[in-house]
Amino acid sequence: MISLSKPVISEEEKQAVMRVLDSGMIAQGPEVAAFEDEFSLFMEGHHCIAVNSGTSALHLGLLASGIECGDEVIIPSFTFAATANAVALCGATPVFVDIDIETFTMDPKAAEAAITENTSAIMPVHLYGHPSNMDPLTEICSRKGLTLLEDAAQAHLATYKSQPVGTFGTAAFSFYPTKNMTSGEGGMIVTSDDEIARKAKLLRNQGMEIRYQNEVVGFNNRMTDIHAAIGRVQLKKLRERTTKRQKNAKFLSENLSTVTVPTASSDAEHVYHQYTITTDRRDDLSEYLNQAEIGNGVYYPIPVHELPSFGKQIDLPNTKAAAQQALSIPVHPLLTQDELDTIVEVINSWR
Ligand SMILES: *Cc1c(COP(=O)(O)O)cnc(C)c1O
Repeated sequence: MISLSKPVISEEEKQAVMRVLDSGMIAQGPEVAAFEDEFSLFMEGHHCIAVNSGTSALHLGLLASGIECGDEVIIPSFTFAATANAVALCGATPVFVDIDIETFTMDPKAAEAAITENTSAIMPVHLYGHPSNMDPLTEICSRKGLTLLEDAAQAHLATYKSQPVGTFGTAAFSFYPTKNMTSGEGGMIVTSDDEIARKAKLLRNQGMEIRYQNEVVGFNNRMTDIHAAIGRVQLKKLRERTTKRQKNAKFLSENLSTVTVPTASSDAEHVYHQYTITTDRRDDLSEYLNQAEIGNGVYYPIPVHELPSFGKQIDLPNTKAAAQQALSIPVHPLLTQDELDTIVEVINSWR
């Protein structure tokens, strides 16, 4: 069986966990602070606030940016439900817009068309590791006075015109095990705004900066030092593992002939969280790959606006097409050349 994704855990991560356990300090402490500082080096020095999941990073990032009841936040419908959940958990309304079918990311024209007097923010998703089209989105937000947020959960180290995603607006990353790097569970809020950073830290820890002097109502969304220690090791290896993903993707794209391979726009450095092909006989190909024991997955079979949790009846044709045609196949850094050859042979023999 060739697995679709596989977290790469080495001796170094295990030793890091043991070091923390032996220290006797296992909740949020020095490892978390070091992880934030080290992540910030990849984020142009912006503030980094570690939390217990990518969803918490989105949620607290939105709250700290002032998103509240009555606000509308424009998001793509072709994403993981967490993007919309985070908006709804602030009491705000997610407004779902269509994607560009080439890159699977938010269509800036659709985003602009969805703006109303209640819109407070636009939050593109760098889906599969492909950066969203940031120039027009940044321009729309500044012209209309809207907050720009980024769901960068799938896009560690991706860049748009050489600028790292996560540095365009207040952003959220995830360290869930299938993501390009993991801390077990975990997330990071990234922002250049001092006040948003301070609010996010307050919300993470019961509303207090100084112990027992709680300033606002807050959560316990802290990351533990155990998780941070794993994240720090993973971060050191992220560049190398990302390069391996990109090499694997290049090989697949050069050799697959029976399906449409993913495109990366010329402005973008794609980090291939997923390598996602399209075909109008998607379910047939998925079954064929299952038979051949090649991992594959549909991200995402149901557009978020159609889920029972949101239940919106709107027409988003590109989102609908992507949900029917997209299939992700293995691209992770542990793939061997033999496995890559097998994937290509099997898919090219599919009729
Ligand atoms: C994984 C993911 C999240 C949520 O991250 P968790 O760490 O699982 O909470 C949010 N948005 C997108 C696009 C994701 O892929």
